[in-house]
Amino acid sequence: MTTKTEISPYSPAELEALAVQAGRDLEDASAQEVMRWAAETFGRRFAVTSSMEDAVVAHLASTALPGVDVIFLDTGYHFAETIGTRDAVAAVYPVNVITLTPRQTVAEQDAEYGPRLHDRDPDRCCALRKVEPLNRGLAGYDAWATGLRRDESPTRANTPVVSFDPKRQKVKIAPIARWTQADVDAYVAEHGILLNTLLMDGYASIGCAPESCTRRILEGEDARSGRWAGAGKTECGIHL
Ligand code: SF4
Repeated sequence: MTTKTEISPYSPAELEALAVQAGRDLEDASAQEVMRWAAETFGRRFAVTSSMEDAVVAHLASTALPGVDVIFLDTGYHFAETIGTRDAVAAVYPVNVITLTPRQTVAEQDAEYGPRLHDRDPDRCCALRKVEPLNRGLAGYDAWATGLRRDESPTRANTPVVSFDPKRQKVKIAPIARWTQADVDAYVAEHGILLNTLLMDGYASIGCAPESCTRRILEGEDARSGRWAGAGKTECGIHL
């Protein structure tokens, strides 16, 4: 089994070169092949992030790298169902779930910025409760994978399978970028993948619980339409 080293064997320039080459080589590869490449190339310095909407990417990663680190950002605003999904994933799959928390509790944030910052300035709230913890948490890795898909929204339509994340100086991998919702459904059915029960309750993309951040979608809306609806915001900032 590959062990995690504290020091990366790669310089940022080498990581970028790897990402550019793999971006070309793996554009048409299966998600399983992409995960195998990540496991073989980065070993324990590879992690996946999960919003705990489902366990598809965590399961894919665990088949390539049993014991893989699965990073979950606990913003302090999650639905109980999401926390339950995280705990189930940790119990069921051969993965190491790592929960990252913001520097401030919700109460401390409320004291400094006022209550319900998510309603007044969601960009700042996401920066404090998602982006900063993730940046901190990814420091020990060379590569990270996400469950981004091109069919989720127009803003995600050009998501590369493998790219270089210049802000974090990491290789960023979206192994299921080319999947459709039907592909996800087929994988879930074939492998009995754990799902967040909110998916059966009208939600298509699950973020934080405040109504201003996550709502059920309406007939004909894309999967991301229920996120920060009406706020002119489409991403939390992790993928920008
Ligand atoms: S999704 Fe909403 S509550 Fe969660 S961090 Fe972003 S603005 Fe804050």
